[in-house]
Amino acid sequence: ALPTIYAITPTYSRPVQKAELTRLANTFRQVARLHWILVEDAAARSELVTRFVAGAGLPCTHLHVPTPRRYKRPGLPRATEQRNAGLAWLRQRHQHLPPPQPGVLFFADDDNTYSLELFQEMRTTRKVSVWPVGLVGGRRYERPVVENGKVVGWYTGWRADRPFAIDMAGFAVSLQVILSHPKAVFKRRGSQPGMQESDFLKQITTVEELEPKANNCTKVLVWHTRTEKVNLANEPKYHLDTVTIEV
Ligand code: UDP
Ligand code: MN
Repeated sequence: ALPTIYAITPTYSRPVQKAELTRLANTFRQVARLHWILVEDAAARSELVTRFVAGAGLPCTHLHVPTPRRYKRPGLPRATEQRNAGLAWLRQRHQHLPPPQPGVLFFADDDNTYSLELFQEMRTTRKVSVWPVGLVGGRRYERPVVENGKVVGWYTGWRADRPFAIDMAGFAVSLQVILSHPKAVFKRRGSQPGMQESDFLKQITTVEELEPKANNCTKVLVWHTRTEKVNLANEPKYHLDTVTIEV
């Protein structure tokens, strides 16, 4: 059977949330055997996301965990608790059914752009696979540098000293590796800005072990796009429309 792809998506309430989730679901719906783990950054499941998930037309697990207020500051990593909640769910779900069904996990932020080819590439991940990411790190792209089929360095414009100079969108991990490293999580304590990926990957793999995808990391199949903040300057102070519309 095809390995299941588990996509962990942290998401939070804001004017563009439903638009982002709609675009993401439109992509994911075209991918075979994809299980979406949508984790709301909230104290409870919101009605908007609950309704959205019900109509999304793909297998979806809807979780929630709020980011503690002290961590909601510029410069601090985002969505640590949400990604960990997704990891915990995945481990919990598989702890009682050994041997685990083949699976691949990746972290899919709600605002990035994913080509369908990316999923074909990550599906064959044996342990940890990597590939280039477009529009990130102050460059057109970042990528793992590959020689003779092995990752030997990183093409990056930002903090080249990172052990794994890669964005969250640039790697996938097999379910087996997630289950055999039950303590591997994203850390708040001691984690510097931009080190989330490295801190996590250090716990489960080595650079030598990485599997290059996307034609030896020479193709961009995912883009770290960011959505412009919407202008709501003309929103009425009070509710003036005759109907209530979810946007
Ligand atoms: N996110 C979240 N809570 C927040 C901020 C962001 O759950 O307070 C989610 C967001 O929806 C996205 C991921 O975390 O899926 C990364 O956030 P963002 O895209 O803002 O980060 P950047 O593009 O700067 O890497
Ligand atoms: Mn983003």
